[in-house]
Amino acid sequence: KRNVLIIGAGGVAHVVAHKCAQNNVQLGDIHIASRTLSKCQAIIESVHEKGSLRKPGLLQAHQLDAMDVEATKFLIRATRSQIVINVGSPFLNMSVLQACIETGAAYMDTAIHEDPAKVCEAPPWYANYEWKRRQACKEARVTAVLGVGFDPGVVNAYARYAIDSYFDSVDSIDIIDVNAGSHGRYFATNFDPEINFREFVSTVWSWENNSWKANQMFEHRKEWDLPVTGKSTTYLTGHDELHSMSQNLGVPNIRFWMGFGDHYINVFTVLKNLGLLSEQPVRTARGQEVVPLEVVKAVLPDPASLAPGYTGKTCIGDLVKGSKHGEPREVLIYNVCDHEESFAEVGSQAISYTAGVPAVAAALLIANGTWDVGGMVNVEELDPAPFIALMNRMGLVTRARHDGQDYVVDPQQQVV
Ligand code: NDP
Repeated sequence: KRNVLIIGAGGVAHVVAHKCAQNNVQLGDIHIASRTLSKCQAIIESVHEKGSLRKPGLLQAHQLDAMDVEATKFLIRATRSQIVINVGSPFLNMSVLQACIETGAAYMDTAIHEDPAKVCEAPPWYANYEWKRRQACKEARVTAVLGVGFDPGVVNAYARYAIDSYFDSVDSIDIIDVNAGSHGRYFATNFDPEINFREFVSTVWSWENNSWKANQMFEHRKEWDLPVTGKSTTYLTGHDELHSMSQNLGVPNIRFWMGFGDHYINVFTVLKNLGLLSEQPVRTARGQEVVPLEVVKAVLPDPASLAPGYTGKTCIGDLVKGSKHGEPREVLIYNVCDHEESFAEVGSQAISYTAGVPAVAAALLIANGTWDVGGMVNVEELDPAPFIALMNRMGLVTRARHDGQDYVVDPQQQVV
């Protein structure tokens, strides 16, 4: 019994709690801690409603300010947690990681650390934060798996798997993330608007010919013909996984493309040009100081409230190009996730579902020793086969499309 402490009680934490509860026989007691206790309690209620917890099993809520390293250490020890799944806001990463290093608990997160005061960081971004603690993790023999959601996370594992299984050499990886779902609202973000917009207001970094290239948001547009979601328009976007994959895989070109509709771009552009996406405070005529981005966040729908009416599917994957036996080759490794099915199973939309399930798969692989490496790693440094195989059984099925075929990837059967 390893016992798990989940940090955060947002959309992703909701899925993580459900999936941990479904697997509590292997994971042990499940604890969930966030700033607002009532949010943890609401998640626990939802887990009981769906009957996700295998009995007998403990699922407990705690109030915690995870910026407080001592308080986090105390909770890790009090709950005897050996695995911490940090799915709180990315501002917490370094504090939670520190608490894990000092208590010996394994650490996991699903995004790079962010400093609220800085919108865009010099690449490779990981080197500014998490990687500075690599040596400390090694000395403490603490396993830290960074960025183990879907993207970053599964797409890193897909890249590793493609390189090892389908190619002799790889020239490019295009990560494509399309949400062809519909929430029926005028405008909404699928996760925390603050984090979501921060991703799009800054320089867009891509990895081209083995070096960083700076681009503008919505500067490069590309249409792809994807399985299930069909013809999808995407834009070159900066994304966490490029910051580790560029350093770890030896692939000269790695880019990230996110799907956006014209309506989203119009609204986003108006908000941005008006200055409403700024995190710099402004003073109103009545002398009040307000942060425009916080006001926008307050008036937009709560991302969690979108789940009940969400229809359609997401398609996220890696289009990998290179050669095998001297012949050019192109392989798409991908997952399709259905918003309604996610909601029926755990009460969440597919964006949260695709981020939460991989984190719990990783927790299971740490618990059974497969990924318990005793150091800090990004997902592409780990064996992707057990991860992909486990997710196939946990609700996220991996498929591959190449040479006119389209099939479920079974990592136990190596494809050549
Ligand atoms: P939410 O904003 O919904 O939730 C964040 C949670 O963190 C909230 O419950 C918040 O608590 C909690 N929190 C914030 N500050 C503190 C603190 N000081 N102490 C304790 N708890 C705190 O985010 P999401 O669930 O959408 O996302 C969670 C993480 O997953 C983010 O890092 C996000 O970037 C990442 N993500 C990764 C994806 C991937 O595929 N890799 C996809 C989607 C998200 P409270 O509510 O009480 O304020």
